[in-house]
Amino acid sequence: MRLKACKSCRAIVIEGDKCSRCGSTQLTHNWDVLFILLDSDRSELAKRLDVDTEGAYALLVK
Ligand SMILES: [Zn+2]
Repeated sequence: MRLKACKSCRAIVIEGDKCSRCGSTQLTHNWDVLFILLDSDRSELAKRLDVDTEGAYALLVK
């Protein structure tokens, strides 16, 4: 099953139709590149993507 990604914050949504991170219901199957944030303090990529919570994100959300 293809996972969905939140259009607002890029978080990967594993279950349901609502983003557990920001509460948005704007989800899409049209994303690419899974990015897993483990340590927000050290990740330059996290800063660039503006994410600060550990979890799975989509790098590209269309
Ligand atoms: Zn979200």
